[in-house]
Amino acid sequence: MKMILSIAGSDPSGGAGIQADLKTITTLGCYGAAAITAITCQNTLAVSHCHPLPPQLVADQVLAVLTDMAPSHIKIGMTASTGIIATLAQALKDFTGEIIFDPVLKSSSGHSLLSGDSVTALAPLLARVSVLTPNIPELASLSQLPVSNAEQAQQAGLLLMERYANIRALCIKGGHLQEEEGEVVDILLEKKGLDQTVQVTRANHPRRRTANSHGTGCTFASAFAAYHAHQGSYQKAFHSAVTYVDTLLELGKDEKIGHGIGPLQHYKWMKKQDVEYRR
Ligand code: PLP
Repeated sequence: MKMILSIAGSDPSGGAGIQADLKTITTLGCYGAAAITAITCQNTLAVSHCHPLPPQLVADQVLAVLTDMAPSHIKIGMTASTGIIATLAQALKDFTGEIIFDPVLKSSSGHSLLSGDSVTALAPLLARVSVLTPNIPELASLSQLPVSNAEQAQQAGLLLMERYANIRALCIKGGHLQEEEGEVVDILLEKKGLDQTVQVTRANHPRRRTANSHGTGCTFASAFAAYHAHQGSYQKAFHSAVTYVDTLLELGKDEKIGHGIGPLQHYKWMKKQDVEYRR
């Protein structure tokens, strides 16, 4: 049995945050535990409130899980406040498994989900994690470099990997780049061998035309964690997570849930598997 602890914010509309993480982890055949960092009030249209929980309460949830259960992977999403980040970094200092960090800065509707200067604020956690999964705005913000094409994205990623020796793999979600018409390029940077040479892998796939993309970042990072728990390879986890999100975007593209940016529909993954299984 593979177990993943998700540490993230709550999205009551079920599209992103802890709700998206648990759906992803479950549909990919792992056991999901969850510690909540913040309560947001939001739907597919907007985020109206965002309440970070007291840092010690977040750490206590994490420690309650870690002192009783043995997750191999921890996936971190919205960290919400500098106090939570510092406390989490301390609470995770003895954890020896994989920590996959999706450095959430904003909601898909544009609402800030982290108070303060993100680069300084996130530094203690960035120094603890093994995998980072930024989208393009997050990558630009953390590296303080302009990122408007895949080449610049790769350079910014390399800089972060050089700055944080602990980061062994970095997945760049390229959906915000508009370089190639009709195409998205996701990039995996992975440190290899004794000299830690960085190997670069690109996954080019068609851009899905859909309004239902809320929660894709959370879902990608959780899928990466789940596939890595099963397969133990960053390469395989990267390609499988890209396919998982891409498939869900395609399967849910015509559904109308809410009046704004609709969510992915994770249950469709199970339906698809079920149909294929029965064939
Ligand atoms: N975490 C929470 C709690 C959120 O509400 C959101 C977006 O609204 C995110 C993370 C990031 O969402 P996405 O996966 O769309 O980047």
